[in-house]
Amino acid sequence: MNHSVPDFEVGIIGGGPAGAGMACYLAKAGVKCVVFERELFPRPHVGESLVPSSTRVFKDLDFLGQMEEAKFPHKFGAVWTTNDENPGYVHDLEGLTPEYNVDIRFEERKQEGMEDRNYTYHVDRGKFDLMLLQHAQKLGATVYDGVKVARVDFGPEYPDVYFNIGPKEMSVNCKMVVDCSGRQTFLGNQLKLKVKDTVFDQYAIHSWFDGYDRKVFAKRDTNLDYIYIHFLPISNTWIWQIPITDTVTSLGVVTQKKNFAKSKEDREKFFWETVGSRPLIAETLRKSDRIRPFKDEGDYSYAMKQLVGDRFMLVGDAGRFVDPIFSTGVSIALNSARFAHKDILTALEKNDFSREAFSEYETKLRRGTKNWYEFISVYYRLNVLFTYFISDHNYRLDVLKLLQGDVYDEDAPEVLTKMKAMVSKVEQNEKHPWHKLLGNLTSDAFRPQF
Ligand SMILES: Cc1cc2nc3c(=O)[nH]c(=O)nc-3n(C[C@H](O)[C@H](O)[C@H](O)COP(=O)(O)OP(=O)(O)OC[C@H]3O[C@@H](n4cnc5c(N)ncnc54)[C@H](O)[C@@H]3O)c2cc1C
Repeated sequence: MNHSVPDFEVGIIGGGPAGAGMACYLAKAGVKCVVFERELFPRPHVGESLVPSSTRVFKDLDFLGQMEEAKFPHKFGAVWTTNDENPGYVHDLEGLTPEYNVDIRFEERKQEGMEDRNYTYHVDRGKFDLMLLQHAQKLGATVYDGVKVARVDFGPEYPDVYFNIGPKEMSVNCKMVVDCSGRQTFLGNQLKLKVKDTVFDQYAIHSWFDGYDRKVFAKRDTNLDYIYIHFLPISNTWIWQIPITDTVTSLGVVTQKKNFAKSKEDREKFFWETVGSRPLIAETLRKSDRIRPFKDEGDYSYAMKQLVGDRFMLVGDAGRFVDPIFSTGVSIALNSARFAHKDILTALEKNDFSREAFSEYETKLRRGTKNWYEFISVYYRLNVLFTYFISDHNYRLDVLKLLQGDVYDEDAPEVLTKMKAMVSKVEQNEKHPWHKLLGNLTSDAFRPQF
Protein backbone atom coordinates (compact mmCIF):
# COMPACT_ATOMS: atom_id res chain seq x y z
CA MET A 1 0.00 0.00 0.00
CA ASN A 2 1.41 3.43 -0.89
CA HIS A 3 0.89 6.72 0.94
CA SER A 4 1.81 10.19 -0.16
CA VAL A 5 4.11 10.56 2.86
CA PRO A 6 6.34 7.47 2.96
CA ASP A 7 7.30 5.80 6.24
CA PHE A 8 11.00 6.35 5.54
CA GLU A 9 13.01 8.16 2.92
CA VAL A 10 15.46 5.27 2.43
CA GLY A 11 15.04 1.56 3.26
CA ILE A 12 18.29 -0.40 3.59
CA ILE A 13 18.26 -4.21 3.35
CA GLY A 14 21.14 -5.67 5.41
CA GLY A 15 23.15 -4.27 8.32
CA GLY A 16 26.70 -5.44 7.42
CA PRO A 17 29.44 -2.90 6.61
CA ALA A 18 27.64 -1.69 3.45
CA GLY A 19 24.24 -1.28 5.12
CA ALA A 20 25.52 0.12 8.41
CA GLY A 21 27.97 2.40 6.56
CA MET A 22 25.15 3.65 4.33
CA ALA A 23 22.88 4.23 7.33
CA CYS A 24 25.65 6.19 9.10
CA TYR A 25 26.22 8.46 6.09
CA LEU A 26 22.49 9.07 5.57
CA ALA A 27 21.59 9.53 9.23
CA LYS A 28 24.50 11.93 9.65
CA ALA A 29 23.02 14.00 6.80
CA GLY A 30 19.62 13.98 8.53
CA VAL A 31 17.93 11.45 6.22
CA LYS A 32 15.15 9.33 7.73
CA CYS A 33 16.35 5.80 7.03
CA VAL A 34 15.68 2.27 8.25
CA VAL A 35 17.94 -0.81 8.23
CA PHE A 36 16.42 -4.31 8.05
CA GLU A 37 18.87 -6.93 9.34
CA ARG A 38 17.74 -10.54 9.39
CA GLU A 39 20.25 -11.64 12.07
CA LEU A 40 20.61 -10.59 15.68
CA PHE A 41 24.13 -9.15 16.01
CA PRO A 42 26.80 -10.07 16.99
CA ARG A 43 27.08 -12.85 14.41
CA PRO A 44 30.28 -14.28 12.93
CA HIS A 45 31.19 -13.27 9.36
CA VAL A 46 34.03 -13.93 6.98
CA GLY A 47 36.16 -10.95 5.83
CA GLU A 48 38.30 -9.86 8.76
CA SER A 49 41.28 -8.03 7.30
CA LEU A 50 40.70 -4.48 6.09
CA VAL A 51 42.62 -2.29 3.64
CA PRO A 52 43.49 1.37 4.33
CA SER A 53 40.75 2.87 2.14
CA SER A 54 38.31 1.66 4.84
CA THR A 55 39.99 3.91 7.39
CA ARG A 56 39.01 6.99 5.40
CA VAL A 57 35.34 6.02 5.79
CA PHE A 58 35.77 5.58 9.56
CA LYS A 59 37.21 9.07 9.69
CA ASP A 60 34.25 10.48 7.70
CA LEU A 61 31.83 8.77 10.08
CA ASP A 62 33.59 9.87 13.31
CA PHE A 63 34.17 6.19 14.01
CA LEU A 64 37.97 6.07 14.28
CA GLY A 65 37.94 6.61 18.06
CA GLN A 66 35.73 3.54 18.50
CA MET A 67 38.00 1.45 16.27
CA GLU A 68 40.89 2.33 18.59
CA GLU A 69 38.90 1.73 21.78
CA ALA A 70 37.92 -1.73 20.53
CA LYS A 71 41.64 -2.58 20.36
CA PHE A 72 41.41 -4.34 17.03
CA PRO A 73 44.90 -5.43 15.91
CA HIS A 74 46.58 -2.77 13.82
CA LYS A 75 47.45 -3.91 10.30
CA PHE A 76 50.62 -2.26 8.99
CA GLY A 77 51.10 -4.36 5.88
CA ALA A 78 50.94 -7.69 4.11
CA VAL A 79 53.29 -10.62 3.50
CA TRP A 80 53.15 -13.26 0.77
CA THR A 81 55.00 -16.51 1.41
CA THR A 82 55.75 -19.64 -0.53
CA ASN A 83 57.12 -23.06 0.25
CA ASP A 84 60.88 -23.30 0.82
CA GLU A 85 61.02 -26.83 -0.50
CA ASN A 86 58.78 -26.15 -3.41
CA PRO A 87 59.22 -22.65 -4.76
CA GLY A 88 56.65 -22.06 -7.44
CA TYR A 89 57.40 -18.41 -7.25
CA VAL A 90 60.17 -16.30 -8.70
CA HIS A 91 60.75 -12.65 -9.40
CA ASP A 92 63.73 -12.38 -11.65
CA LEU A 93 63.24 -12.46 -15.41
CA GLU A 94 66.72 -13.80 -16.14
CA GLY A 95 67.69 -16.14 -13.36
CA LEU A 96 64.35 -17.39 -11.95
CA THR A 97 65.42 -16.51 -8.41
CA PRO A 98 63.13 -18.09 -5.83
CA GLU A 99 61.37 -15.62 -3.53
CA TYR A 100 59.76 -16.97 -0.39
CA ASN A 101 58.65 -14.04 1.67
CA VAL A 102 57.69 -10.70 0.13
CA ASP A 103 56.13 -7.87 2.08
CA ILE A 104 54.68 -4.39 1.70
CA ARG A 105 54.13 -1.74 4.38
CA PHE A 106 51.32 0.79 4.10
CA GLU A 107 53.60 3.56 5.43
CA GLU A 108 55.47 3.44 2.11
CA ARG A 109 52.65 5.41 0.46
CA LYS A 110 50.66 8.16 2.16
CA GLN A 111 46.96 8.22 1.39
CA GLU A 112 45.25 11.52 0.73
CA GLY A 113 43.46 12.73 3.87
CA MET A 114 44.98 9.91 5.92
CA GLU A 115 48.53 11.22 6.31
CA ASP A 116 48.51 10.55 10.06
CA ARG A 117 47.79 6.79 9.71
CA ASN A 118 50.20 4.15 8.46
CA TYR A 119 47.95 1.26 9.37
CA THR A 120 44.44 -0.11 9.17
CA TYR A 121 42.78 -2.93 11.15
CA HIS A 122 42.00 -6.64 11.35
CA VAL A 123 38.57 -7.13 12.92
CA ASP A 124 36.40 -9.70 14.63
CA ARG A 125 33.43 -9.17 12.34
CA GLY A 126 30.90 -10.07 15.01
CA LYS A 127 32.11 -7.18 17.14
CA PHE A 128 32.92 -4.74 14.31
CA ASP A 129 29.59 -5.13 12.47
CA LEU A 130 27.66 -4.68 15.72
CA MET A 131 29.64 -1.54 16.58
CA LEU A 132 29.03 0.05 13.18
CA LEU A 133 25.32 -0.77 13.21
CA GLN A 134 24.98 0.69 16.72
CA HIS A 135 26.85 3.77 15.54
CA ALA A 136 24.27 4.19 12.75
CA GLN A 137 21.53 3.94 15.36
CA LYS A 138 23.22 6.57 17.53
CA LEU A 139 23.41 8.86 14.50
CA GLY A 140 19.63 8.54 14.09
CA ALA A 141 18.99 5.53 11.82
CA THR A 142 16.16 3.15 12.72
CA VAL A 143 17.33 -0.47 12.95
CA TYR A 144 14.95 -3.45 12.74
CA ASP A 145 17.12 -6.43 13.63
CA GLY A 146 16.05 -10.05 13.43
CA VAL A 147 13.86 -8.93 10.52
CA LYS A 148 14.29 -10.66 7.16
CA VAL A 149 13.03 -8.83 4.11
CA ALA A 150 10.82 -11.14 2.04
CA ARG A 151 10.18 -9.01 -1.05
CA VAL A 152 10.11 -5.48 -2.37
CA ASP A 153 7.17 -4.33 -4.48
CA PHE A 154 8.07 -1.52 -6.82
CA GLY A 155 4.61 -0.03 -7.14
CA PRO A 156 3.59 3.04 -9.14
CA GLU A 157 4.73 5.36 -6.35
CA TYR A 158 6.99 4.26 -3.48
CA PRO A 159 8.55 0.80 -3.10
CA ASP A 160 6.98 -1.34 -0.33
CA VAL A 161 9.38 -3.49 1.69
CA TYR A 162 7.69 -6.67 3.02
CA PHE A 163 8.85 -8.70 6.01
CA ASN A 164 7.35 -11.08 8.56
CA ILE A 165 7.04 -10.50 12.29
CA GLY A 166 6.11 -13.96 13.57
CA PRO A 167 3.28 -15.20 11.34
CA LYS A 168 2.24 -11.66 10.42
CA GLU A 169 3.32 -10.07 7.12
CA MET A 170 4.06 -6.37 7.42
CA SER A 171 5.42 -3.67 5.14
CA VAL A 172 6.85 -0.19 5.20
CA ASN A 173 7.29 2.12 2.25
CA CYS A 174 10.27 4.26 1.39
CA LYS A 175 11.18 6.69 -1.37
CA MET A 176 13.90 4.27 -2.44
CA VAL A 177 15.54 1.00 -1.44
CA VAL A 178 19.26 0.25 -1.06
CA ASP A 179 20.12 -3.43 -1.20
CA CYS A 180 23.06 -4.19 1.13
CA SER A 181 22.16 -7.85 1.65
CA GLY A 182 25.67 -9.09 0.83
CA ARG A 183 26.14 -12.36 -1.04
CA GLN A 184 22.44 -13.10 -0.47
CA THR A 185 22.02 -10.60 -3.35
CA PHE A 186 18.40 -10.04 -2.41
CA LEU A 187 17.35 -7.58 -5.13
CA GLY A 188 19.77 -9.00 -7.71
CA ASN A 189 17.87 -12.29 -7.38
CA GLN A 190 14.42 -10.75 -7.26
CA LEU A 191 15.08 -8.61 -10.33
CA LYS A 192 17.14 -11.32 -12.11
CA LEU A 193 20.20 -9.12 -12.51
CA LYS A 194 22.84 -11.57 -11.30
CA VAL A 195 25.49 -13.03 -13.61
CA LYS A 196 27.79 -15.74 -12.27
CA ASP A 197 31.50 -15.22 -12.85
CA THR A 198 32.69 -17.53 -15.62
CA VAL A 199 36.35 -17.49 -14.59
CA PHE A 200 36.53 -17.48 -10.81
CA ASP A 201 34.71 -20.35 -9.17
CA GLN A 202 36.27 -20.33 -5.74
CA TYR A 203 35.62 -22.20 -2.56
CA ALA A 204 36.90 -21.34 0.93
CA ILE A 205 37.00 -23.12 4.28
CA HIS A 206 38.08 -21.35 7.45
CA SER A 207 38.13 -21.23 11.24
CA TRP A 208 39.78 -19.49 14.23
CA PHE A 209 42.78 -20.98 16.04
CA ASP A 210 44.05 -20.08 19.51
CA GLY A 211 47.79 -20.27 20.13
CA TYR A 212 48.91 -20.42 16.48
CA ASP A 213 52.49 -19.15 16.64
CA ARG A 214 52.62 -16.20 14.24
CA LYS A 215 56.38 -15.84 14.88
CA VAL A 216 57.09 -18.91 12.75
CA PHE A 217 56.62 -16.96 9.51
CA ALA A 218 57.55 -13.42 10.57
CA LYS A 219 60.91 -12.25 9.30
CA ARG A 220 60.76 -9.41 11.84
CA ASP A 221 58.77 -8.87 15.05
CA THR A 222 57.14 -5.84 13.42
CA ASN A 223 55.60 -8.16 10.82
CA LEU A 224 53.76 -10.32 13.35
CA ASP A 225 50.39 -8.63 12.90
CA TYR A 226 50.50 -8.32 9.12
CA ILE A 227 48.10 -10.35 7.04
CA TYR A 228 49.91 -13.38 5.61
CA ILE A 229 48.95 -14.92 2.31
CA HIS A 230 50.62 -18.31 2.08
CA PHE A 231 50.76 -19.86 -1.37
CA LEU A 232 50.33 -23.58 -1.60
CA PRO A 233 51.96 -25.76 -4.25
CA ILE A 234 48.46 -26.49 -5.64
CA SER A 235 47.24 -24.32 -8.50
CA ASN A 236 45.19 -21.23 -7.55
CA THR A 237 45.24 -22.20 -3.89
CA TRP A 238 46.29 -20.08 -0.90
CA ILE A 239 45.77 -19.62 2.82
CA TRP A 240 44.98 -16.43 4.72
CA GLN A 241 46.43 -15.82 8.17
CA ILE A 242 44.73 -12.92 9.94
CA PRO A 243 45.34 -11.85 13.58
CA ILE A 244 42.07 -11.49 15.50
CA THR A 245 43.51 -10.96 19.00
CA ASP A 246 46.97 -11.38 20.54
CA THR A 247 46.47 -15.15 20.59
CA VAL A 248 43.63 -15.91 18.16
CA THR A 249 44.30 -16.18 14.41
CA SER A 250 41.86 -16.71 11.57
CA LEU A 251 43.06 -19.17 8.93
CA GLY A 252 41.25 -20.07 5.75
CA VAL A 253 42.02 -22.03 2.60
CA VAL A 254 40.86 -20.64 -0.75
CA THR A 255 40.91 -22.91 -3.78
CA GLN A 256 38.99 -23.52 -6.97
CA LYS A 257 35.79 -25.35 -6.26
CA LYS A 258 36.71 -28.12 -8.65
CA ASN A 259 39.77 -28.96 -6.46
CA PHE A 260 37.45 -29.50 -3.53
CA ALA A 261 34.94 -31.48 -5.59
CA LYS A 262 37.75 -33.68 -6.94
CA SER A 263 39.09 -34.45 -3.49
CA LYS A 264 35.84 -36.26 -2.46
CA GLU A 265 36.83 -35.55 1.13
CA ASP A 266 34.67 -34.08 3.81
CA ARG A 267 35.46 -30.43 4.29
CA GLU A 268 37.54 -30.78 7.46
CA LYS A 269 39.68 -33.53 5.95
CA PHE A 270 40.07 -31.39 2.84
CA PHE A 271 41.26 -28.46 4.97
CA TRP A 272 43.97 -30.49 6.70
CA GLU A 273 45.07 -32.26 3.55
CA THR A 274 45.40 -28.98 1.67
CA VAL A 275 47.19 -27.21 4.51
CA GLY A 276 49.48 -30.27 4.70
CA SER A 277 50.99 -29.24 1.36
CA ARG A 278 52.85 -26.59 3.41
CA PRO A 279 54.15 -28.82 6.25
CA LEU A 280 55.37 -25.95 8.43
CA ILE A 281 51.94 -24.28 8.42
CA ALA A 282 50.23 -27.60 9.17
CA GLU A 283 52.66 -28.32 12.01
CA THR A 284 52.22 -24.85 13.53
CA LEU A 285 48.46 -25.10 13.22
CA ARG A 286 48.29 -28.55 14.83
CA LYS A 287 49.98 -27.11 17.93
CA SER A 288 47.12 -24.62 18.33
CA ASP A 289 43.46 -25.10 19.33
CA ARG A 290 40.61 -24.65 16.89
CA ILE A 291 38.01 -22.59 18.74
CA ARG A 292 35.23 -22.38 16.14
CA PRO A 293 33.59 -24.92 13.83
CA PHE A 294 34.90 -24.93 10.27
CA LYS A 295 32.79 -22.81 7.94
CA ASP A 296 32.80 -22.92 4.16
CA GLU A 297 31.89 -20.41 1.47
CA GLY A 298 31.35 -21.27 -2.18
CA ASP A 299 30.22 -19.94 -5.58
CA TYR A 300 30.94 -16.45 -4.58
CA SER A 301 32.08 -14.50 -7.63
CA TYR A 302 29.44 -12.67 -9.64
CA ALA A 303 28.49 -9.36 -11.24
CA MET A 304 25.15 -7.59 -11.78
CA LYS A 305 23.74 -6.34 -15.08
CA GLN A 306 22.70 -3.13 -13.32
CA LEU A 307 23.92 -1.62 -10.06
CA VAL A 308 21.16 0.98 -9.96
CA GLY A 309 17.62 1.38 -11.30
CA ASP A 310 14.50 3.43 -10.70
CA ARG A 311 14.26 3.77 -6.91
CA PHE A 312 16.97 1.23 -6.10
CA MET A 313 20.70 0.80 -5.68
CA LEU A 314 22.87 -2.25 -5.01
CA VAL A 315 25.73 -1.56 -2.60
CA GLY A 316 28.61 -3.73 -1.30
CA ASP A 317 28.56 -7.46 -1.99
CA ALA A 318 24.93 -7.12 -3.06
CA GLY A 319 26.27 -5.44 -6.22
CA ARG A 320 29.44 -7.34 -6.99
CA PHE A 321 31.80 -9.86 -5.51
CA VAL A 322 35.35 -10.47 -6.63
CA ASP A 323 37.80 -12.96 -5.17
CA PRO A 324 39.06 -11.91 -1.69
CA ILE A 325 42.80 -12.38 -2.39
CA PHE A 326 43.55 -8.71 -1.67
CA SER A 327 41.14 -8.32 1.31
CA THR A 328 38.99 -5.87 -0.58
CA GLY A 329 35.40 -6.68 0.34
CA VAL A 330 34.78 -4.53 3.40
CA SER A 331 36.58 -1.61 1.80
CA ILE A 332 34.41 -1.90 -1.33
CA ALA A 333 31.29 -2.15 0.86
CA LEU A 334 32.20 0.96 2.88
CA ASN A 335 33.38 2.98 -0.10
CA SER A 336 30.31 2.00 -2.14
CA ALA A 337 28.25 3.45 0.68
CA ARG A 338 30.43 6.57 0.65
CA PHE A 339 29.90 7.13 -3.09
CA ALA A 340 26.26 6.01 -3.25
CA HIS A 341 25.04 8.20 -0.41
CA LYS A 342 26.06 11.31 -2.36
CA ASP A 343 23.74 10.39 -5.26
CA ILE A 344 20.99 9.60 -2.74
CA LEU A 345 21.27 13.04 -1.12
CA THR A 346 20.98 14.68 -4.55
CA ALA A 347 18.04 12.44 -5.47
CA LEU A 348 16.23 13.43 -2.26
CA GLU A 349 16.91 17.10 -2.87
CA LYS A 350 15.65 16.98 -6.47
CA ASN A 351 12.97 14.38 -5.79
CA ASP A 352 14.35 12.40 -8.73
CA PHE A 353 14.85 8.69 -8.04
CA SER A 354 15.29 7.57 -11.64
CA ARG A 355 18.08 5.22 -12.72
CA GLU A 356 19.92 8.20 -14.26
CA ALA A 357 19.97 9.97 -10.90
CA PHE A 358 22.29 7.24 -9.57
CA SER A 359 24.60 6.98 -12.57
CA GLU A 360 27.57 8.69 -10.94
CA TYR A 361 27.72 5.97 -8.30
CA GLU A 362 27.41 3.23 -10.90
CA THR A 363 30.23 4.64 -13.04
CA LYS A 364 32.57 5.05 -10.09
CA LEU A 365 31.89 1.62 -8.66
CA ARG A 366 32.28 -0.11 -12.00
CA ARG A 367 35.62 1.65 -12.51
CA GLY A 368 36.88 0.53 -9.08
CA THR A 369 35.69 -3.06 -9.31
CA LYS A 370 37.01 -3.37 -12.89
CA ASN A 371 40.45 -2.34 -11.62
CA TRP A 372 40.24 -4.82 -8.74
CA TYR A 373 39.05 -7.55 -11.03
CA GLU A 374 41.86 -7.03 -13.51
CA PHE A 375 44.44 -6.90 -10.74
CA ILE A 376 43.13 -10.16 -9.31
CA SER A 377 42.99 -11.76 -12.78
CA VAL A 378 46.60 -10.85 -13.58
CA TYR A 379 47.60 -12.17 -10.21
CA TYR A 380 45.98 -15.57 -10.61
CA ARG A 381 47.17 -15.90 -14.20
CA LEU A 382 50.81 -15.20 -13.38
CA ASN A 383 51.59 -14.91 -9.65
CA VAL A 384 55.23 -14.11 -10.35
CA LEU A 385 54.26 -10.87 -12.04
CA PHE A 386 52.97 -9.52 -8.77
CA THR A 387 56.26 -10.05 -6.91
CA TYR A 388 58.14 -8.80 -9.96
CA PHE A 389 56.20 -5.51 -9.99
CA ILE A 390 56.37 -4.91 -6.25
CA SER A 391 60.09 -5.55 -6.35
CA ASP A 392 60.51 -2.90 -9.09
CA HIS A 393 60.90 0.56 -7.56
CA ASN A 394 59.24 2.11 -10.65
CA TYR A 395 55.98 0.30 -9.90
CA ARG A 396 56.02 -0.59 -6.22
CA LEU A 397 54.01 2.44 -5.12
CA ASP A 398 51.49 1.99 -7.94
CA VAL A 399 50.88 -1.58 -6.81
CA LEU A 400 50.68 -0.39 -3.22
CA LYS A 401 48.04 2.14 -4.23
CA LEU A 402 45.88 -0.73 -5.53
CA LEU A 403 46.55 -2.78 -2.38
CA GLN A 404 45.48 0.17 -0.23
CA GLY A 405 42.14 0.18 -2.01
CA ASP A 406 42.62 3.42 -3.97
CA VAL A 407 41.13 2.08 -7.19
CA TYR A 408 38.33 4.48 -8.06
CA ASP A 409 40.05 7.49 -9.62
CA GLU A 410 41.67 6.04 -12.77
CA ASP A 411 40.07 4.20 -15.68
CA ALA A 412 43.19 2.28 -16.61
CA PRO A 413 46.01 2.52 -14.08
CA GLU A 414 49.33 2.34 -15.95
CA VAL A 415 50.68 -0.46 -13.79
CA LEU A 416 47.69 -2.67 -14.66
CA THR A 417 48.07 -1.98 -18.37
CA LYS A 418 51.74 -2.96 -18.13
CA MET A 419 50.90 -6.13 -16.20
CA LYS A 420 48.28 -7.17 -18.75
CA ALA A 421 50.71 -6.55 -21.63
CA MET A 422 53.32 -8.69 -19.90
CA VAL A 423 50.84 -11.52 -19.38
CA SER A 424 50.04 -11.54 -23.12
CA LYS A 425 53.74 -11.52 -23.98
CA VAL A 426 54.33 -14.54 -21.75
CA GLU A 427 51.23 -16.32 -23.08
CA GLN A 428 52.39 -15.91 -26.67
CA ASN A 429 55.98 -17.04 -26.12
CA GLU A 430 56.33 -20.65 -25.08
CA LYS A 431 60.08 -20.16 -24.55
CA HIS A 432 59.57 -17.36 -22.06
CA PRO A 433 60.99 -18.48 -18.67
CA TRP A 434 57.66 -17.64 -17.06
CA HIS A 435 55.48 -19.49 -19.57
CA LYS A 436 55.42 -22.65 -17.47
CA LEU A 437 54.27 -20.60 -14.48
CA LEU A 438 51.02 -19.46 -16.13
CA GLY A 439 47.99 -20.31 -14.00
CA ASN A 440 44.96 -21.96 -15.54
CA LEU A 441 42.53 -19.08 -14.98
CA THR A 442 42.61 -17.70 -18.49
CA SER A 443 43.03 -14.16 -19.65
CA ASP A 444 39.36 -14.27 -20.64
CA ALA A 445 39.15 -12.82 -17.20
CA PHE A 446 40.20 -9.49 -18.71
CA ARG A 447 37.02 -9.30 -20.76
CA PRO A 448 34.86 -6.46 -19.50
CA GLN A 449 32.21 -7.65 -17.07
CA PHE A 450 29.01 -5.82 -16.26
C1 LIG B 1 36.34 -16.48 1.63
C2 LIG B 1 36.18 -15.00 1.82
C3 LIG B 1 37.19 -14.27 2.43
C4 LIG B 1 37.06 -12.88 2.60
N1 LIG B 1 38.08 -12.16 3.16
C5 LIG B 1 37.96 -10.81 3.27
C6 LIG B 1 38.98 -10.04 3.90
O1 LIG B 1 39.97 -10.54 4.39
N2 LIG B 1 38.78 -8.69 3.96
C7 LIG B 1 37.67 -8.09 3.45
O2 LIG B 1 37.57 -6.86 3.50
N3 LIG B 1 36.68 -8.79 2.89
C8 LIG B 1 36.80 -10.14 2.79
N4 LIG B 1 35.77 -10.86 2.27
C9 LIG B 1 34.62 -10.14 1.75
C10 LIG B 1 33.68 -9.64 2.87
O3 LIG B 1 33.22 -10.74 3.59
C11 LIG B 1 32.50 -8.90 2.25
O4 LIG B 1 32.92 -8.20 1.11
C12 LIG B 1 31.84 -7.92 3.21
O5 LIG B 1 31.31 -8.58 4.31
C13 LIG B 1 30.71 -7.17 2.45
O6 LIG B 1 29.90 -6.42 3.30
P1 LIG B 1 28.35 -6.25 2.95
O7 LIG B 1 27.81 -5.34 3.98
O8 LIG B 1 28.19 -5.92 1.53
O9 LIG B 1 27.72 -7.71 3.13
P2 LIG B 1 27.61 -8.59 4.47
O10 LIG B 1 28.72 -8.29 5.37
O11 LIG B 1 27.44 -9.99 4.04
O12 LIG B 1 26.27 -8.08 5.14
C14 LIG B 1 25.02 -8.35 4.57
C15 LIG B 1 23.98 -8.40 5.68
O13 LIG B 1 22.69 -8.50 5.07
C16 LIG B 1 21.88 -9.35 5.86
N5 LIG B 1 20.79 -9.86 5.00
C17 LIG B 1 20.89 -10.69 3.94
N6 LIG B 1 19.67 -10.91 3.39
C18 LIG B 1 18.79 -10.21 4.14
C19 LIG B 1 17.36 -10.03 4.08
N7 LIG B 1 16.62 -10.65 3.16
N8 LIG B 1 16.77 -9.24 4.99
C20 LIG B 1 17.50 -8.61 5.95
N9 LIG B 1 18.85 -8.74 6.06
C21 LIG B 1 19.48 -9.52 5.16
C22 LIG B 1 22.85 -10.43 6.32
O14 LIG B 1 22.39 -11.08 7.48
C23 LIG B 1 24.13 -9.62 6.56
O15 LIG B 1 24.28 -9.24 7.91
C24 LIG B 1 35.88 -12.24 2.13
C25 LIG B 1 34.85 -13.00 1.55
C26 LIG B 1 34.99 -14.36 1.39
C27 LIG B 1 33.87 -15.13 0.76
